Amino acid sequence: HAKRQGRNSAHCYHSGMSQASERRVLLEGDLQKALEENQLYLHYQPRIHAAKNIIVGAEALLRWQHPTLGLVSPVEFIPLLEEMGLIHNIGAWVFREACKQLKIWQDMGHHEFVMSVNLSAVQFRDVRLAQEVRDVIQNAGIHPSTLEVELTETSIMEDVSQTQATLMVLKEMGLRIAVDDFGTGYSSLSYLRSFPLDTLKVDRAFIRDLTTNDEDKSLATAIIAMAQSLNLRVVAEGIELQEQASFLLEKSCDEFQGFLFSKPISAEAFTELLTSWPNKPNHTALPSRA
Ligand code: C2E
Ligand code: MG
Ligand code: MG
Ligand code: MG
Repeated sequence: HAKRQGRNSAHCYHSGMSQASERRVLLEGDLQKALEENQLYLHYQPRIHAAKNIIVGAEALLRWQHPTLGLVSPVEFIPLLEEMGLIHNIGAWVFREACKQLKIWQDMGHHEFVMSVNLSAVQFRDVRLAQEVRDVIQNAGIHPSTLEVELTETSIMEDVSQTQATLMVLKEMGLRIAVDDFGTGYSSLSYLRSFPLDTLKVDRAFIRDLTTNDEDKSLATAIIAMAQSLNLRVVAEGIELQEQASFLLEKSCDEFQGFLFSKPISAEAFTELLTSWPNKPNHTALPSRA
């Protein structure tokens, strides 16, 4: 592959390079072109209202179909985008694409549907963010309260005074703000209380062994109670088993997300899911969709 060779040589391979760093150099070379060559796309995973069993929103998740390596995980390539200074442009593309899709679903009659978009720490600290988001919302013609940004607990605790200022700007624009992967970082309750947050997403690590591990049971219960006392909507991530959903419903968890309901899927497949989803307010009748 002539093109591939040309790119690689620009990043000067040398013998003795570990396999991991070889892969990294290859990925970095190819990421430059990934967006213009249409290798990046979004998948969507539904968020389910726990008590009503209806789809209330989706999380947009970035995918990279590499021409020779296949699907590369965002966990691997997002840090590369950050280091290469590409996260702003690609992040802006994610916002545009997700909001365009949000508008389509809302226009289908799902007026209250909410779209969640992940923001990496680097994007969050970028001075261009607010204007970018403002433009995207305006162009897409969506109500800002139907767009939610997800920030990890670790990234909001990095520089709390800057976090406070940026969150206020986003909040004044009318956006919803979620703390992602909650429980994996070290957040201070007093900061959590002072930030203008709407949603808390409990990390999958607390959900995984929920049905077998008593400690995780107590932790998940405590996190839900804390979120409620802070007036936050609480979403459980990574639900794979009916027993996990039942336990969390009993503890008054607001929303569910996980393979039990659906994996992240294409916009077309999601539209199908939205149309066929049983809008029955009966949790026990929940079909398994893993
Ligand atoms: P996240 O925001 O915490 O997203 C949830 C991750 O959990 C997704 O992985 C999703 O596929 C996975 N997941 C959902 N339900 C289940 C389940 O029941 N079981 C298991 N085992 N996994 C489940 P994904 O799509 O690989 O994304 C990984 C991370 O990459 C995301 O974690 C997020 O931090 C980051 N990411 C993805 N898309 C974007 C993006 O557009 N921008 C930024 N900045 N980060 C992104
Ligand atoms: Mg997320
Ligand atoms: Mg998460
Ligand atoms: Mg995560």
